[in-house]
Amino acid sequence: MKYECDIVKDLIPLYIDDVLSENSKIFVKDHIDSCEACRKYYEKLSSDVKIPVSRETRKYDLKPMEYLKASLSRKIIRRVLAVVLVIGFFVGSFIFATRYEMPVDSSKVDFYEKDDYLMMKYDGQGDLLYSANASWENRKVWTIRFWQTPLEKYLPPLYKKEKYTKDSMPLYKVKKVYDEDGNVLWEKKD
Ligand SMILES: [Zn+2]
Repeated sequence: MKYECDIVKDLIPLYIDDVLSENSKIFVKDHIDSCEACRKYYEKLSSDVKIPVSRETRKYDLKPMEYLKASLSRKIIRRVLAVVLVIGFFVGSFIFATRYEMPVDSSKVDFYEKDDYLMMKYDGQGDLLYSANASWENRKVWTIRFWQTPLEKYLPPLYKKEKYTKDSMPLYKVKKVYDEDGNVLWEKKD
């Protein structure tokens, strides 16, 4: 009898999953009806397997075609959602990398004159972006804002051997440059 118990115990998980052949099912059922040890084992195992009742009943309530359709459309919805998420992630990353403005410490920018133009050197990583606004009353006084996007900061160092050091600014005969907070960044020495 012990030998049969071993076989039945091996089969009980399959019996619970309802994947046994008819004959094997009858064999297992007959055995657990007459063997207390195996019946206890069966009851323990089948109570461990907790299948959500609503889902199970729903599965069998539906006709096969409806069930197939329902699971197909669920699959399609899941796939569409996955694609939307992936596209969204890349679009989001791209927008972030090209739009997100990281302020640049203006103390890392040095100014110098060349001919009548104001030039600048940026002692930092990557390319520098800036916008320059002339004051209304005097076009020789400028306010400059410096920033970088993640793309400007992290991409150029990957392919540029030398650090970004020079830029000429389209600022002609400048007398004074402020940062946004009104600090003087550069002033022409007479
Ligand atoms: Zn047994």
